[in-house]
Amino acid sequence: MAESRFLELKCPRCSNPQITYYKATIKVKCTECNKLLIKPTGGKAKIKAQIKNII
Ligand SMILES: [Zn+2]
Repeated sequence: MAESRFLELKCPRCSNPQITYYKATIKVKCTECNKLLIKPTGGKAKIKAQIKNII
């Protein structure tokens, strides 16, 4: 997953679904409970949530 795209994620803590822009350098937090869902790790992001869909 090198290119940027939109992901539909489900938060592992509060189960809140959210559509987020995926990019290797962008940190994404859950809008409900503030849990870190996508963690940038120098060139490749680590996704810590369940991926429901790639849009
Ligand atoms: Zn959450």
